[in-house]
Amino acid sequence: MSIQIVTPLTVTDHSRDIAGLQYVYPVVSRRAGGVSIGVNLNPNNACNWRCVYCQVPGLIRGAAPETDLALLAEELDLMLSQIVNGDFMQKAVPLEARRLNDIALSGNGEPTTSPQFLDVIDLIAAAQQKYHLDLKTVLITNGSQLDKTQVQAGLRKMATMRGEVWFKIDRVPQDGFEFVNQIALKRSQVVRRLTQSAALCPTWIQTCMFATDGVLPDEQALGQYVDFLAEQIAQGVKLEGVLLYGLARPSLQAEASRLSAAPAEWMQALQAKIEALGLPVKLSL
Ligand code: SF4
Repeated sequence: MSIQIVTPLTVTDHSRDIAGLQYVYPVVSRRAGGVSIGVNLNPNNACNWRCVYCQVPGLIRGAAPETDLALLAEELDLMLSQIVNGDFMQKAVPLEARRLNDIALSGNGEPTTSPQFLDVIDLIAAAQQKYHLDLKTVLITNGSQLDKTQVQAGLRKMATMRGEVWFKIDRVPQDGFEFVNQIALKRSQVVRRLTQSAALCPTWIQTCMFATDGVLPDEQALGQYVDFLAEQIAQGVKLEGVLLYGLARPSLQAEASRLSAAPAEWMQALQAKIEALGLPVKLSL
């Protein structure tokens, strides 16, 4: 097995198969300011949600397939050995980003739908140990599987691995169908899962804001969103902050032509409202 380096990685190239591997891919991240090793447990492009802004090509509804753990371990080992002991950084990464930041479970679907989620976390811990690394371990999730014992155990383990959960809440959770995520949600369900996540592992909320058919979320919707955050804080849910995203890259879903980016000033005004709650905000436009 070898890593095929197609071209030096740039901040705009997040192609999951750039290294020619099935599960593991390197990303140069603007947000993180360095290289992130991505682990994609959904090579089948299946997610239990269908967010209208989702950038997964050929997204289908479903769960992560069975992971070939031996192959994943081999790929992770190969990637880490190339980065730590080899010349991967020199060959493939622009000078200013030659820093290994984290290992992120962020694939083409919801990673926690994998029945082997906990095994994968253990495997990442073992790989880091082998290379004497203490990298941040990030889980990018829609939070929908947080009631499952093995997912909770995975988060508990992640907390010992400089773990961070990036928990998707795009709009204030209400009882009913959510257009943005194309899924029926219950507010109490989202609150329970968010509370669970924050209790187990440091948790950031990730929110993507944009206009639909030229219309941005109105003042009432934004007020409800900010109130929801305030309510969580008041209830003792320890949140690390909010990762606030605009539409950085085009959606690959049917609704793509209906979506447009919010003006920078609008995003910054929302950032200020959230920060007024005492929550740090990382804004990516
Ligand atoms: S949860 Fe993530 S992978 Fe799933 S549809 Fe939404 S953006 Fe895409």
